[in-house]
Amino acid sequence: MRVNPQDDSIKKAADLIRASHKTVAFTGAGISVESGIPDFRGPDGVWSKIDTKYLDIHYFKRNREVCWKVIYEMFFEPLQKAQPNAAHEGLAWMEEKGLLVGVITQNIDNLHHKAGSRFIVEFHGNTRLLVCTHCGHQTEADFSRLGLPPVCPQCGSILKPDFVFFGEGIPFTAWRGTEELLKDLEVMIVIGTTGVVFPAGQIPRQAKQKGVKLIEINLEPSAYTGTLTDVFIQSPATRAVENLKRALSG
Ligand code: ZN
Repeated sequence: MRVNPQDDSIKKAADLIRASHKTVAFTGAGISVESGIPDFRGPDGVWSKIDTKYLDIHYFKRNREVCWKVIYEMFFEPLQKAQPNAAHEGLAWMEEKGLLVGVITQNIDNLHHKAGSRFIVEFHGNTRLLVCTHCGHQTEADFSRLGLPPVCPQCGSILKPDFVFFGEGIPFTAWRGTEELLKDLEVMIVIGTTGVVFPAGQIPRQAKQKGVKLIEINLEPSAYTGTLTDVFIQSPATRAVENLKRALSG
């Protein structure tokens, strides 16, 4: 009989989650790969195709129309079409069942939102909203209404995507939401992130210092594996979360 090597780690992870009073998920690009979004930093990722100056806040402010052409094509067009997968849906299910308090994500693809998760900290912002750097107005990224480049309905300035550009800090609301989720936390499920992006990658380290148990789901071992991780599930995100869901339903 063949034994599934994942069984033991799935069972350990499910036991930790069941015993926990507060569990959150921390997700990165790896959770969205199976939704057809290549990892930004991978060989097919956006960073290999785009000159990063278009995402530099200072360059953007001086060249909004040129930047918008590139940004719309590279980010909004593909991401607005993308659909959540079983891993995003599994986390939304866990939240609904009271097994998960919320999700901190580094992704700007809106897929936790589309899957029905409610408490989401979008650490790097999202591609669902646009923001006016002149008057602060925030609005849905509806290009049929706002045009391209999108214009602020309040003051007429060209809007900026509501995600973090190079040269910008992490939004205050992201820090505040993260702090709220880390308070009295017992278990963190790290999915599809290798911990190399700063400062987001520090979040699991910060949790671990407070005694939080870490469950890690990644295709390959990461900077967390073997040092911070308590239970390592080496698997694509969808399969691991589906197995976890099955173990938690039983
Ligand atoms: Zn405005």
